[in-house]
Amino acid sequence: MRGKIIKGVGGFYYVSAEGKVYECKAKGIFRALGIRPLPGDDVEMDVLSEEDAEGNVTRILERKNELIRPAVANVDQAMIVVARTDPKPNPGLIDRFLISMESRGVTPLICLNKQDLEADDGDLAPIYRQAGYTVFETSAEEGEGVEELQQSLWGKTTVLAGPSGVGKSTLINRLCPEAAMETGEISQKIRRGRHTTRHTEWFALNADTFLLDTPGFTSIWIEDLEPDELSAYYEEFTPFVPDCRFAGCVHVGERECGVKRAVKAGKIPLIRYRNYCQIYEELKEQKKY
Ligand code: GDP
Ligand code: ZN
Repeated sequence: MRGKIIKGVGGFYYVSAEGKVYECKAKGIFRALGIRPLPGDDVEMDVLSEEDAEGNVTRILERKNELIRPAVANVDQAMIVVARTDPKPNPGLIDRFLISMESRGVTPLICLNKQDLEADDGDLAPIYRQAGYTVFETSAEEGEGVEELQQSLWGKTTVLAGPSGVGKSTLINRLCPEAAMETGEISQKIRRGRHTTRHTEWFALNADTFLLDTPGFTSIWIEDLEPDELSAYYEEFTPFVPDCRFAGCVHVGERECGVKRAVKAGKIPLIRYRNYCQIYEELKEQKKY
């Protein structure tokens, strides 16, 4: 039977298959091969007991991609949820999230929640749309914009991230009314295991649509990126790069820089340029060690 690992706890793997969650062990062969089954892995399993929903994972199908924090496989897209206000959004965090997902081959999405609240500072939606990203504007509380967001999730595995208090749980309950029930089912099984703290929570919207709620996605480390590769992640800079005087201009300290000129003229949002400069300096610092 085919299924998907939705959680690994204390040597057990919980496999969602045909509408049920099976508690499985993985065959020793994986350890011998140095493969660690990950949540998100598509697997083949043998059912040992239908009644007790127990089985054995026998094969891990080829992975499309793999994230490190959280450790999950086969993610299609990752959506950062931030509130329009309360808590105030942190654009630096948003940019780091976008870059780190794109560099791993995961499509990033942005959800600006709490649209029913008034915010005094600028609207982030047009800024990130100009940068080429898909932005949803929702009110999880009132249901506004949720249907449109839901359509972009169908048939995919989506990681949800974002600081606490932005409305992720409220959104999940809207998207997946059975969420409470499903978590109940899984956590009942898992209570037998000991390591119940802080794990990624999986929600099945249907047989091939999954939502992952990941705690602790608040500090994002961008690894394996050279400082001069960073500007490629700022798509809205591209039209102005030909105006840079120097070949290989990184748009930070150089004179006669088309990007800096565009920022001054208001054609590139200052928020994005500031984030760029800050992340650029960080990447340079990292290289020193
Ligand atoms: P989480 O920590 O990201 O899971 O956030 P919660 O879903 O627990 O929501 C945090 C608080 O924000 C709760 O008091 C929610 O009722 C509230 N909240 C969630 N979504 C909205 C929204 O769209 N508008 C408003 N005004 N409040 C919301
Ligand atoms: Zn430049």
